[in-house]
Amino acid sequence: MDENCIFCKIANKEIPSNIVYEDEYVCAFKDLNPVAPVHILVIPKIHIQDLESVTDENAVYLTHIQQAFSKISKIVGVDKTGYRVICNCGEDAGQEVKHLHYHMLGGKNLGLKIIHD
Ligand code: AMP
Ligand code: ZN
Repeated sequence: MDENCIFCKIANKEIPSNIVYEDEYVCAFKDLNPVAPVHILVIPKIHIQDLESVTDENAVYLTHIQQAFSKISKIVGVDKTGYRVICNCGEDAGQEVKHLHYHMLGGKNLGLKIIHD
């Protein structure tokens, strides 16, 4: 855990959030500023900065995240209608929070719009 990281604090329940799903490896919660009717952030329960920081040791967390999407989709009601998953990595992608996270977007037809215009 990184004591200065807001998403570590959310995973640790040190600050409030709307968690919709969690297991040993994964925490999923509602984005504070949703850009779609359904906007969930899916994070590993350990501090991994971004996709550039994935290693043989921590990759198991990503495996579990991949498996969690279809569980979360049913919980938030987009399993039938579909959703988009976006992961911003680094400066050019506009990554604001330096804890690996996947945006799960749905609840309307998303067209070609991406998360940061
Ligand atoms: P990114 O630009 O990919 O780093 O996205 C960071 C996302 O985190 C943004 O969509 C923010 O709205 C969201 N966010 C930041 N702080 C919180 C928080 N405390 N709870 C929920 N979502 C947050
Ligand atoms: Zn963190």
